[in-house]
Amino acid sequence: MAAPAREAAAPAPAPAPVPAPAPVLDVERVRKDFPILSRTVHGRPLVYLDSAASAQCPRPVMRAVEDYCMQSHANVHRGVHLLSQEATAAYEGARDRVRRFLNARSTREILFVRGTTEAINLVAQSYARPRFGPGDEILITGLEHHANIVPWQMVRDQTGCSLAVAPIDRRGELPLNEFFKRLTPRTRLVAVAHVSNALGTILPVEEIVSAAHARGIPVLIDGAQAVSHRAVDVRALDCDFYAFSGHKLYGPTGIGVLYGREALLAEMPPWQGGGDMILTVTFERTTYNELPWKFEAGTPNMSGAVGLAAAIDYVEGLGLDAIGAHEQRLLEEATAELQRIAGLTIIGTAAHKASVISFTLEGIHPHDLGTILDSEGVAVRTGHHCAMPVMEFFGVPATARASFACYNTREEVHRLSAALHRAREVFR
Ligand code: PLP
Repeated sequence: MAAPAREAAAPAPAPAPVPAPAPVLDVERVRKDFPILSRTVHGRPLVYLDSAASAQCPRPVMRAVEDYCMQSHANVHRGVHLLSQEATAAYEGARDRVRRFLNARSTREILFVRGTTEAINLVAQSYARPRFGPGDEILITGLEHHANIVPWQMVRDQTGCSLAVAPIDRRGELPLNEFFKRLTPRTRLVAVAHVSNALGTILPVEEIVSAAHARGIPVLIDGAQAVSHRAVDVRALDCDFYAFSGHKLYGPTGIGVLYGREALLAEMPPWQGGGDMILTVTFERTTYNELPWKFEAGTPNMSGAVGLAAAIDYVEGLGLDAIGAHEQRLLEEATAELQRIAGLTIIGTAAHKASVISFTLEGIHPHDLGTILDSEGVAVRTGHHCAMPVMEFFGVPATARASFACYNTREEVHRLSAALHRAREVFR
């Protein structure tokens, strides 16, 4: 009998794609770029865990600002002399660098401002105020920074529109069903944080934008706490406005960005008047400049823009994936260590968090805790973190907050927890 024909061997299943390993950051090399990190505080090596408030500047940023000041500084746009042309090229070059960083379509969509706060105020006064009135609603969330609350309250008081707040839950997450319930025919604008500064929560901004857009509602994203941890692509997000600050991205203070969808910016009136934002002026009337300059009245912050562009080069050089992965490892380690400290409560336990850890320690006011940690050389922020409604929600007057950046190390996490153990002893 003939042997039964063997079944043709089934093709081997394709191996499941192996996720690429998270890139590794050479932190010791990174630290050499930040001269301030080698100073001492109260006789101890500095442990800087306050980068969510303001990140430190690396040498390439300082050098870019210095080179600009030493070689090319002059006022921009109007000068025919070489220095003015160089300054203009540096300033407008920085704008294009930001455009590429955010993957915006055009430099007409990139406005330089002082920071996130000014960016949101610009949208409030130039987009919302002329359009909204009684019956209209602006929707924010319960975890916003004051910069994404107060400008809308001002618009509310100026126009009679109202402000709705989607609640957060006890983990510091935004339940989307609650958020979606508040998207109503009255909603005219959604303004949400990408990442909460007080809790670390990463918001599902993609879902928020698509739900809002399905109802024709534009969305502003406060990206102050996001851009230093993850790549942001405004076209992929499809948001209408995106705001961030240079000083939280290892850049200088006094410079920030508002990305705005060109069609919206084109319809918006200027928000400040003066030089540079005009084409012609008579005593009777003024014609306004084109985008983006229509929104940049007065001499801009050229050296700040140059420094911001250098900061973007710096983080992209390290790789935002590598930075994010490194910070996540520190966050996990810090969370595990802090959870072992008796009486310590972590405020903000969302499943998706950026490298921010807010906490209280029973029996010690956060300000006293901050002072003790400072005496150990450990710099954390204490207070309400410009998010008083978040503090109220969690029933605490304040928290201590450690935030981790590309230059922090595991050893520094241990120094934080050792200092917290010492604080426990002092207040026992
Ligand atoms: N939004 C968030 C989430 C922030 O964390 C901050 C600053 O801490 C701001 C807005 C305001 O940023 P700036 O003070 O740079 O304008």
